[in-house]
Formats: sequence, structure tokens, C-alpha cells
Amino acid sequence: MAGAFAIGLAKQAETVALYAQALPNLLHMKVKPAKNVYSRGGTSIDEVVLHGTESRRSQVESADYIASANDAGTSIHYWIGRDFGILYAMVPEEKAAGHAGNPDKVPGVEDHNYRSIGIEMYQLDVAMFKGDTSKLDFTDWQYDSVAMLVYDICHRLKISRDMVVGHGQINSVQRADPKNFDWDRFNRKVDDVSRMMAIRFGPDYAVNS
Ligand SMILES: [Zn+2]
Repeated sequence: MAGAFAIGLAKQAETVALYAQALPNLLHMKVKPAKNVYSRGGTSIDEVVLHGTESRRSQVESADYIASANDAGTSIHYWIGRDFGILYAMVPEEKAAGHAGNPDKVPGVEDHNYRSIGIEMYQLDVAMFKGDTSKLDFTDWQYDSVAMLVYDICHRLKISRDMVVGHGQINSVQRADPKNFDWDRFNRKVDDVSRMMAIRFGPDYAVNS
């Protein structure tokens, strides 16, 4: 029996290693703990919210700010920089982050903080380009990383793909981010990752499209 147990463990370890290798961008993830962390109050997670940071500061300053004890109460679960290798986990998934709430009680805006996992992608504010939204983009690193991360979250937490939304979709009153994000490209990449994972590990590893 001990032998069977050890083989079981080895197989499990092998699957974990292969799973990680199949999502290579996630191997770059570093923990950068955020100060603004909240209880979910028993609310279960059923949504992933994508953001663009709309920063007027550098990538480093932007990441430092959202991880800080800022007065706005802002924080995020995951933060993806523009440059290869920059990917932070800031708030544990079992806790809520301050990224999609309604602190000013604006009519028509719902607080999505307790039900969601938030992902920020660093992007300059459109004001830095004199309001020309067409100048805004995201890098290959950001598209690949956000697709792998969303695949992993949807797979682990059994979140439906149609519950992966942009901040602007759930708060159209105040927000329009992630601006100029190519949703088709993103969804194709998640589909590709899902297909590849299902081939490697079995049909349970597919996430619906
Ligand atoms: Zn946002």
C-alpha cells in the first residue's frame, strides 16, 4: 500500500509540475503583498474583473501605489506589468481587494469587490496621449499572462468564462477600462490554453468558451 501511495504522490507532483510548465508566464509570479485587504464576508467568487491601470506614473510607482495602504482603499489580486516577467500576486484570492467597489455610493453602480477576483494590467492614462485612445495598447506579455491567469482561475474556481468581464462593463457609469483591450485576441488565447490543457491532462481541464 505504501508503494501505491508513493506512486500516487509522485504522479500528483508530476501533474503539478507539468501544469506549471504549461502556463510558463505564471512561473514569473512574485508575491508583493497589498495593505488594503478585506474579508469577503462569506460571498463566494463567481467573477473575474480585468482592469487597465490608467496610470500617470511609472510601472514601478503604479505597482507600489496599489500595494500601499492608500487612502482610496485600492488594491488588486494580480498585477501585470508591460515588461516581460513582471507579474505580482498582491491579495490572496480568499480575501477581497478594493478594485471594483462603489465607495462613493454612486447610483447605478454595484459593488463587485466581494464576489470577484481583480487583475490590473499596467497602462498609461489616455491623458498622456492627449486623449487619443488609439495610442493605448497592451503588450504580448500582458495578453499571454492575463490569458494564462484567467484560464487558471476559471479552471480552479470553476468560474464561467462569461463571468470574465472588464471594469467598464460592470461600472459603465464611472469606468471604461481596460481601454483598447483586444477581447477577441484575449479569448482566442484562453481558448488555445484550454485546448492544450485538455489534451495534456484530460477533458476536466477545459474551460468553457
Ligand atoms: Zn478598473
